[in-house]
Amino acid sequence: MQEYDRLFIGGEWVLPRSGKRFESVDPSLDKVWAIVPEGDADDIDAAVAAARDALAGPWRHTITPTRRGALMLKLAGLIRRDAERLAELESRDNGKVVRDTLNEIQRSADWLTYFAGAADKIEGKQIPYRPDALAYTRREPVGVVGAILPWNSPMSLYGWKLGPALAAGCAIVLKPAEQTPVTALELGKLIEEAGFPAGVVNIVTGFGTVAGAALAAHPGVDKISFTGEHSTAQKIMAAAAGNLKRCTFECGGKAPHIIFADADLEKAAIVATHGAFRSTGQTCSLGSRLFVQRPAYEAFVATMAERARRIRVGMPLDRTSHIGPHTSREQQEKTLSYIDIGKGEGARLVAGGGRPADLPNGYFVEPTVFADVDNRSRLAQEEVFGPVLAMIPFDTEDEVLAMANDTKYGLVAGVWTSDIARAHRMASRIEAGLVSVNTYRPIHWMLPYGGFKLSGIGRENGLEAIDQFLETKTVVIELNEEMPADPFAS
Ligand code: ADP
Repeated sequence: MQEYDRLFIGGEWVLPRSGKRFESVDPSLDKVWAIVPEGDADDIDAAVAAARDALAGPWRHTITPTRRGALMLKLAGLIRRDAERLAELESRDNGKVVRDTLNEIQRSADWLTYFAGAADKIEGKQIPYRPDALAYTRREPVGVVGAILPWNSPMSLYGWKLGPALAAGCAIVLKPAEQTPVTALELGKLIEEAGFPAGVVNIVTGFGTVAGAALAAHPGVDKISFTGEHSTAQKIMAAAAGNLKRCTFECGGKAPHIIFADADLEKAAIVATHGAFRSTGQTCSLGSRLFVQRPAYEAFVATMAERARRIRVGMPLDRTSHIGPHTSREQQEKTLSYIDIGKGEGARLVAGGGRPADLPNGYFVEPTVFADVDNRSRLAQEEVFGPVLAMIPFDTEDEVLAMANDTKYGLVAGVWTSDIARAHRMASRIEAGLVSVNTYRPIHWMLPYGGFKLSGIGRENGLEAIDQFLETKTVVIELNEEMPADPFAS
């Protein structure tokens, strides 16, 4: 059993005020495997106070931006050193296969490295307002950031959330999801080892409706950076209204992945399979609606069914497994219920459709492909967050565009074609924050990422992400020493 009893607040490991702890389940075995401290509103208060103290101290006022970047690089190095161990812990906690968690934790270090390099390149502007005045802008940290993380990719998001916030000079209270709290506490140890000043990063494990809600409503928090469901984002936005917190939200998706008949279909099939089933479908960028132009459609359905059946569903720590279980029983049940909904809606089931017979204990579901799905059906409109692909035929570009955009989401989209003009037309007309052509979902520290519509607000990644952790202050200094005209003189 992995046991933790303390939260990381103000540079120290402290017991939660309530003394309570909660359990985390290994989803491949349906068994409790870890116990962690249960932070509540009192602990959030303490963490926010510690973050405010950090902002009032050296972090903001004496540590140079270059040193800030150096601390981030140190943290990135420690994460790389411990990557194997962290990956195995996350695979136990989350269920994601270890080759994915290893990749995620290494990339988290890459994210920190990229943003570390930006820490001392944040510059204001001099503005030619008047010849006899000096006007300039300062870019100042937004303040205390509440980072609320989901359970699907915790380790990637350590880099996504901490990178730009630390580069901008903010202090952070990080709350991981209750389903996957373990590696966040391990991250706290590395933050301590890296030598960040006390309170710059605070880690509070706890439940969303308690610790998360307290963070979202806290008047001492200036910004919330959240990844999770849009319905949770809506609650956070309402809670954040009290002091007009800045909010960055990255929510769900129902991405259109569009294959024109003139595309390289062999390549497209490889990428579409990964795009639809990676991480057991528990990702917001999943290419879950696969539109295929009619001349290529039937053969593509057969290929996708065949490829789905070849995916090795297995134990997370087995390095030959392609995908693991769902992270929770609740998520497994949700996916199975959508498989029933698909069948009930009359879609044609061509692969999977149930639980794998050889893995009876954990929250596993077979990679599942439905063909002839109606784009207006629930299976095509609602985010399943599981390994369930909806295939939809189309004839023309206009028709597929209308269907692609007919969704409340707008996170990512993929297009496969050999017609360059069509590629650009599609890129400009699809309503999504990221459109890829002849590849899918290129997520990278340099590329801004975020959603249109209900998929979110603001952008993460890329230099644009840092802007979301800064306030612009305008400063004007009068240079003219003459007496000003007095409008109230007569
Ligand atoms: P899911 O429903 O798939 O678990 P959520 O969007 O609820 O995803 O969870 C994402 C994160 O938001 C988690 O860290 C969770 O604890 C947190 N959370 C859930 N509800 C709230 C809330 N009302 N206020 C703040 N955070 C919350």
